[in-house]
Amino acid sequence: IRVLGIETSCDETAASVVALEGDAAPKILSNIVLSQIEEHAAFGGVVPEIAARAHVEALDGIVEAALADSGTTLADIDAIAATAGPGLVGGLIVGLMTAKAIAAAAGKPLIAVNHLEGHALTARLTDGLEFPYLLLLVSGGHTQILAVRGVGDYQRWATTIDDALGEAFDKTAKMLGLPYPGGPNVEKAAQTGNASRFAFPRPMKGSARPDFSFSGLKTAVRQAATAIEPLGDQDVADICASFQAAVADALADRVSRALARFSQTFPGTKNPALVVAGGVAANHTIKATLERLCAEAGFTFVAPPLKLCTDNAAMIAWAGIERLREGMAQENGFDFVPRSRWPLDSISAPMVGSGR
Ligand code: ATP
Ligand code: MG
Ligand code: FE
Repeated sequence: IRVLGIETSCDETAASVVALEGDAAPKILSNIVLSQIEEHAAFGGVVPEIAARAHVEALDGIVEAALADSGTTLADIDAIAATAGPGLVGGLIVGLMTAKAIAAAAGKPLIAVNHLEGHALTARLTDGLEFPYLLLLVSGGHTQILAVRGVGDYQRWATTIDDALGEAFDKTAKMLGLPYPGGPNVEKAAQTGNASRFAFPRPMKGSARPDFSFSGLKTAVRQAATAIEPLGDQDVADICASFQAAVADALADRVSRALARFSQTFPGTKNPALVVAGGVAANHTIKATLERLCAEAGFTFVAPPLKLCTDNAAMIAWAGIERLREGMAQENGFDFVPRSRWPLDSISAPMVGSGR
């Protein structure tokens, strides 16, 4: 099976060809990602209208490059898979409509893929992981813990009640005058900072409710930053280090609850695993914390390569392959309308359409 994947839900324009032949491990034949970070940097965050226009400008060339790179022509492709939600609706329209046009012209099936399903199934592409496993998705738009039980079979165990974790990093950076995107810059500044100078709150720690919250932490950071006048480099470093320590601690509390719940819900799982996905997975402090938790709980910690943790089209093509392979092809992807909101645990019948 060969599938062309297209991803345009946020600020990356991406296309990829993934192949699965017989019993061999799947192969990523091409994986092109064009980041729009520079277009949005001046605004300190993703501007939806700019994102949609940038996708329009870039997508044709990115798809052509993905096909050329893979050494495949459209004739060798079995289906087109495109992100149909959740995300910024302007970008979703560009990607899904382009995919519909290509699929219609080439007479191929169209698979409308949920972006979160792409993240959820990536560990099967990279590590051949078996179901069930636990997924921690931490990106600029999402902070969730999901039990991944099968293709199209997800249970959301936790989500954020306010900001996403990546968003908290980005806002913290902005308050401290660090450039966008904030995550990598906060991490860099934290390296020379004193993590115990500020006792920032650990939101939701110990709460019986399984969810995340980061807005209280953000407020505490703002208060600390505005109380210091003038704010020097060492102050910024100390705030970043203290913020990161609070985040890691809060995350550890939520994740260890989920690990325990997983063991109770799926007793006898041969090789229980925690997979991390999303741009925040790049953070070394957070990664080390998760590694330690997994070691203590007897879980394997799986962190796919960063290029496949952040937004990309290989994960969308792969989700398409998983769906084709399961014969989950009842509904017509050509009729699917992009959805800005599309919770993963609401997925029912997968969306695949035969070529027209
Ligand atoms: P979506 O949420 O729709 O999946 P996104 O573009 O917001 O997409 P990603 O591209 O997966 O998310 O990740 C970007 C986020 O990851 C940003 O918020 C960024 O600040 C954060 N990030 C990147 N590197 C680091 C890091 N080293 N430490 C902490 N956060 C980081
Ligand atoms: Mg992004
Ligand atoms: Fe994403």
